[in-house]
Amino acid sequence: MLQARKGQLHPNSPATKGSDPLGSDPTLLPAPNSQAGILIDCGLFQGQEESRGSSAEDLAIDFPIDHIRALVVTHVHIDHVGRIPYLLAAGFDGPIICSEPSAIMLPEILEDALKIGFTRDRALINRVLELIRARLVPLPYGRWHSVFEEEVGSLKVRLQRAGHILGSAYVECDVVSGTAAERIVFSGDLGAPHSPLLPEPSPPERADRLVIESTYGDKNHEDRETRRYRLKAVLEHALEDGGTVLIPAFSIGRTQELLYEIEGLIAEFGCGAIGVSPQGDRPRSGPRSESLTWSNLEIVVDSPLAAEFTKIYRDLKPFWDEEARALVAAGRHPLSFEQLTVINSHEDHLNAVEYLAKSHRPCVVIAGSGMCAGGRVVNYLKAMLGDARNDVLFVGYQAAGTPGRNILTYGPRGGWVELDGERYDIRAQVHTVGGYSAHAGQEDLLRFVEGIPQPPSEIRIVHGDDGAKRALQGKLRESLPEAAVVIPG
Ligand SMILES: [Zn+2]
Repeated sequence: MLQARKGQLHPNSPATKGSDPLGSDPTLLPAPNSQAGILIDCGLFQGQEESRGSSAEDLAIDFPIDHIRALVVTHVHIDHVGRIPYLLAAGFDGPIICSEPSAIMLPEILEDALKIGFTRDRALINRVLELIRARLVPLPYGRWHSVFEEEVGSLKVRLQRAGHILGSAYVECDVVSGTAAERIVFSGDLGAPHSPLLPEPSPPERADRLVIESTYGDKNHEDRETRRYRLKAVLEHALEDGGTVLIPAFSIGRTQELLYEIEGLIAEFGCGAIGVSPQGDRPRSGPRSESLTWSNLEIVVDSPLAAEFTKIYRDLKPFWDEEARALVAAGRHPLSFEQLTVINSHEDHLNAVEYLAKSHRPCVVIAGSGMCAGGRVVNYLKAMLGDARNDVLFVGYQAAGTPGRNILTYGPRGGWVELDGERYDIRAQVHTVGGYSAHAGQEDLLRFVEGIPQPPSEIRIVHGDDGAKRALQGKLRESLPEAAVVIPG
């Protein structure tokens, strides 16, 4: 069943006696007698949760909202915003506070989600989007914003860069209830340092309590140079035999990071022939790849949504990191280079699948969804998994229960995967380059927490597999023995 991923913050909440006053999930109830609070994110779980099926009823808002004065959005991934239309349908009439880039991206992502899962009624979609646009309160990073100031208490929020996707933020909340004042920080999803395009997150200056994600709480990423080299090696190897390299990727964030890195490889290796060793030996390449060089390698982004977000990324250069801005100043176009083809229409998509599957033309295709649980990548997988010349390259987290996780697990053993109810044998090679995750690794999460000058008295670990949560809990208990490190049940 799909559930809301949410964090609720009530400066004065009716905490049931004897229950965990902070509730489960990141539901925070800091003090008794609440009449007002905020909601942090309103999205969908992915993976196993999802495979149990979904319906409009499952998506309906199943928690009290009367006291919610504002929704704060950490970033626009669908698992953080997907239920906003249902929140509005349930009667939520407060502002939607988010960063400036998120305010631009949110209507786009919700338009797509509404078209796929909600209705085909264009007029209805437009009305929902208008409602959302009217509620948006774009908040610059680093600026305090008062959500309410009442007799029962007050609450203000500040957004800081989270380095996860464009516009992503962690949320600092200053909560005053009677004479008690507290700073609570919600990490949202944190980015990895050295990820392309975005500056890495800095730890908060203070957090009495911290709610932190743990997607990679049990793993560390390859460093940037290693993974860049591995990306190059996988692409070269894959292209030697004239197949397609299929990269399932989220439309927002991962696609743009990949384009940025591939553009960098093209700029660096330019006319170097792919598939030729430094000694000049030609490996098992066929005649088709004889003349293939990095500069004539074709890159296809097959996703209208990814195309739209790549454009938004290009338009929002002030939010890029220094390295990326320096490239632009030097005349490079990291997200719009000449080898890049963008496929929009469904007809062109079907033609591309058929053409590439038949022609074995060396090509890199980036398509969503990132976990192969739907989207255009599924048609490519169906057409290409059975051919050993093709390659599937995973660059991001694959949740348990998704086709992506199954391909990753069973592909290398010559297994099969079920797509739309049918089995497909996996003969294509399966690779993974872990460093392109948009999530912080274990060391990055620890550095974020340890970097808070005065350690939090309580840390809640959310958003990750059980193993990842427990691994991060163990590490945090070691490094911050004074803090209560909790995994909400
Ligand atoms: Zn995210």
